[in-house]
Amino acid sequence: MKKLIVGNWKMNGSVELLNEFSQGRSRTEWAHAELVICPPSIMLPHAVSLERDFAVGAQDCSHANSGAFTGDISANMLADFGVKYVLTGHSERRRYQKETNDKCVSKVNVAQNSGLTPIFCIGETLADYQSNLTMDVLSNQLESLLVHNIDFENLVIAYEPIWAIGSGLVPSLNTISQTVDFIKDWIIRSKGRVHGDGMRLLYGGSVSSENSGAILSLPNVGGLLIGGASLKHPSFRLIASSAYRHLKSA
Ligand code: PEP
Repeated sequence: MKKLIVGNWKMNGSVELLNEFSQGRSRTEWAHAELVICPPSIMLPHAVSLERDFAVGAQDCSHANSGAFTGDISANMLADFGVKYVLTGHSERRRYQKETNDKCVSKVNVAQNSGLTPIFCIGETLADYQSNLTMDVLSNQLESLLVHNIDFENLVIAYEPIWAIGSGLVPSLNTISQTVDFIKDWIIRSKGRVHGDGMRLLYGGSVSSENSGAILSLPNVGGLLIGGASLKHPSFRLIASSAYRHLKSA
């Protein structure tokens, strides 16, 4: 299966940068990974309108379908505008918008009902990591997917240790591997084997063109969620190339 390489631009980027990404399309290596760019919401229609070889994702959606939610955008509206993916549960939204895990999972639910593929982000703080609580934290975050009866066939899960995001710190390959394996085992224990194309497990946190190849070579890592390194066309392209090299050697 192709690796899924997702760029989260956060509150960065510009129309000019989107145009640059679109002009850099059609490179052989890009065709061997599935690429998604998540620009700020105001740029989504422009991103969709471009001739491009990446899918467009949103960084957030409302937990509701419509109504009195000033400033929010519903998953239905995103789908109407040609958006294919949506991030939910990113640690920055959990932190700055005080989104509870339950709210993040209700967004997974509305996203799926609107035909989008949600990318549900989970991860532990540095304190949790240092206290060996990673698996407990992840289990708790995953548990709400069962409460909301989420369809695992159309779901991407991104493991993002909070302490690795934007810090330049990356867990060892062994730790990433063990943690992603744990998530996979948890899913199999709870849901049985999931056959959908969507059930991919991503790693995110200080991914660069230097470390992407090694991380993508881990057996259960189905792709990457990338912040900073997705803001430059050359580094994003190099990361996509490492997915290509992996596919060739697999
Ligand atoms: C992120 O914000 O999801 C992320 C992984 O950021 P960075 O790659 O910059 O650590």
